[in-house]
Amino acid sequence: MALNVNIPVAPENEYYQIREIPGKGYGCIALQPIERGTRILEDDPLLIIPFAHYLKSDIEKAFAELTSEQKKLYLSLHSSHGQDPRKWPSKIADNIYPRERQRIEEQHAARTTDQPSLLSIFQTNCMEMKDGAAVFPQAARFNHCCNPNACFTWNDKIGKETIHIMNHVVAGDEITISYCDMIHDKPSRTYELKHYGFVCDCRACADESDETTFAHESAERRFKLLELDRETKFLRGSRLNEGAKQENFASKLLQMAVLHQREGDFTPRLAVIYLDIALVCEVKGDLRMAEMAAVKAVEIKKNCQGTDFPTFAKYIDFLDRIRRKLAMQRP
Ligand SMILES: [Zn+2]
Repeated sequence: MALNVNIPVAPENEYYQIREIPGKGYGCIALQPIERGTRILEDDPLLIIPFAHYLKSDIEKAFAELTSEQKKLYLSLHSSHGQDPRKWPSKIADNIYPRERQRIEEQHAARTTDQPSLLSIFQTNCMEMKDGAAVFPQAARFNHCCNPNACFTWNDKIGKETIHIMNHVVAGDEITISYCDMIHDKPSRTYELKHYGFVCDCRACADESDETTFAHESAERRFKLLELDRETKFLRGSRLNEGAKQENFASKLLQMAVLHQREGDFTPRLAVIYLDIALVCEVKGDLRMAEMAAVKAVEIKKNCQGTDFPTFAKYIDFLDRIRRKLAMQRP
């Protein structure tokens, strides 16, 4: 019997299987309960577009260099072509550079024509990678949810895209990742997801008008998060010492951490918030609090990216520094 090459198969693993989901094509279904922090996939890039303009010719050139097996795998990935052109702007501003204009026109054609193309497959499946983007054939099989139970990251140390579980799943759950920024509101997410050719119907995208729903609570949390992010972002990073002097700065960061966790967002962003809380506490001389926040930062960082992630050692070094200072204080 001939194998049907169109049915995607997950790599040999104990965690999930690819199955058909009514109305959604294929999805990755958990085979067993999986705890937060479990790495369920390490995926090699199939087609890499290093820093480039993502023109049709860039994709075609990279595709031509693949083996015939790799080409078959690439062509088996989902494509979001055949979209209604009326849903997309038809004019390009006059001041756009010629090469950028060409990219916009090519991408527009790829998503609105009725045939899949190398470019439409790239647009639907590419993920950021170091200085460019790549298509990861297995990571690309995970569907989107605005409140996902998994997160993905490019790990430059091992040269692979990894997927980690960030919210406990039970056998039979679909494992999902978010294709857009988790703190964005529904209109922004709807716009971002248009590029993939679908309208999200997850529980965060359901009717927000009923105050008892998850969607309503989620919309409120994201609104507050965006507000707190605006208030704090210019005083983080290199200006954190300045931020530490502001009244309520640490409490604003702490509110953000709580909101992210309620939203189920245990991504690297949450790890950075805890690291910043720890740094602010260190500046203020509250080393006990700094230690608690640093422990959280290390735990979240490990759970969403793994201990082999390039910047993980920095988190450990910071925690060690706080502990050394604490030890010196003890009589
Ligand atoms: Zn959604």
